[in-house]
Amino acid sequence: MSRTTNRPARSAFASTLCAALCMALCAVAAASCSAAPRDRADLVIGTVCSVRILDGGDRRALDAAFERLRGIEASMSANAEGTVVAAINAGAGAVPVPAPADVRYVIRKALSYAELSGGAFDPTIGPVVKLWNIGMDGERIPAPEEIAEALPLVDASAVAVDDAASTVFLPRAGMMLDLGAIAKGYAADEVARVLLEHRVKAAVVDLGGNVKVVGRKPDGSPWRIGIQDPFDDRGSRIGIAELEGGATVVTSGVYERYFIGDDGAHYHHILDPATGYPARNGLVSVTVISSSSIDADGLSTTLFSLGLERGMALVETLDHVEAVFIDEDRRVYQSSGAGKLFKLDNPAFTLTALPSR
Ligand code: FAD
Ligand code: MG
Repeated sequence: MSRTTNRPARSAFASTLCAALCMALCAVAAASCSAAPRDRADLVIGTVCSVRILDGGDRRALDAAFERLRGIEASMSANAEGTVVAAINAGAGAVPVPAPADVRYVIRKALSYAELSGGAFDPTIGPVVKLWNIGMDGERIPAPEEIAEALPLVDASAVAVDDAASTVFLPRAGMMLDLGAIAKGYAADEVARVLLEHRVKAAVVDLGGNVKVVGRKPDGSPWRIGIQDPFDDRGSRIGIAELEGGATVVTSGVYERYFIGDDGAHYHHILDPATGYPARNGLVSVTVISSSSIDADGLSTTLFSLGLERGMALVETLDHVEAVFIDEDRRVYQSSGAGKLFKLDNPAFTLTALPSR
């Protein structure tokens, strides 16, 4: 199976880290790009995570931020042994498993997006994710029978989160949680919280393209964050979002993790829980701009999975959330308030209105 994919975990780490750090830091267009002692990047939660402090705090703030990231990885990864999520999955069909408050919080959020999306987002997609293994060793096109066998295990409504007992229970053997679509957003919120606790006044957190800005820029100007061009290398942009402190920009796209199958088709990692195959709806990316990164992460995947029309209809019902959808023909669709925050400046893309119905 031939492959082309964007995955820091398996590439030459040093060069990826260097390139990603430079791009992450350059994402703040108005800031200088020289590496200062208060910049740090590391490979955590399966991606390059970078933090740049522009004002306040010190090295201890960076230490605490990366410690929190590693703590989240150690409890919420579905890809490693010994995590809380792995224990919940191992207990499926057998026992409720103790889970700390942060893990239950993220699972509850994920379940709320499953409900909001009518199942287009589903954190119990784990058995199907494992079949495809996209972005991991052994990625492949599963046999239709394997998908048919895994799909009945995908059922967010069956997950039991018990706050009184501090447990999570998956009632059927073989069920598996995968928080990959939402835990990175939680991690960005947590890093921002930790930085503020350490008296950081201005910083940019970039967890593999999941960006959150903290505080006010020293010169008082708005934060400027580039939105990724899904057709070009990481770091190229389609436009700029101008944001207040606390804002977050999160993108879900077909280019993040994918492989080219023997059949020549492109298989990406956002799976349709109804079919068990990558969601194919003409979209290549969805970016969400909001103030909560866990919500923006949950929503970016949700809106992608719902597709342009249903996704746009959903985002228009939500306060303080804007979205930018890009389709295969380089058409850009934005929610009604997005124009105030985002300016398209790449001439290869066309701002397009959704046909009124
Ligand atoms: P998003 O759109 O936010 O999420 C897509 C991901 O969500 C998919 O990769 C899949 O995991 C899941 N998903 C797919 N379809 C759906 C759906 N319909 N509903 C809900 N979820 C869906 N990667 C590694 O290679 N190695 C690691 O060790 C590793 N550890 C990680 C640990 C943690 C705690 C987290 C949060 C992520 C980790 N990852 C790791 C990365 C992870 O596997 C995903 O690739 C990543 O989170 C995808 O993020 P995204 O923003 O690109 O895409
Ligand atoms: Mg997401």
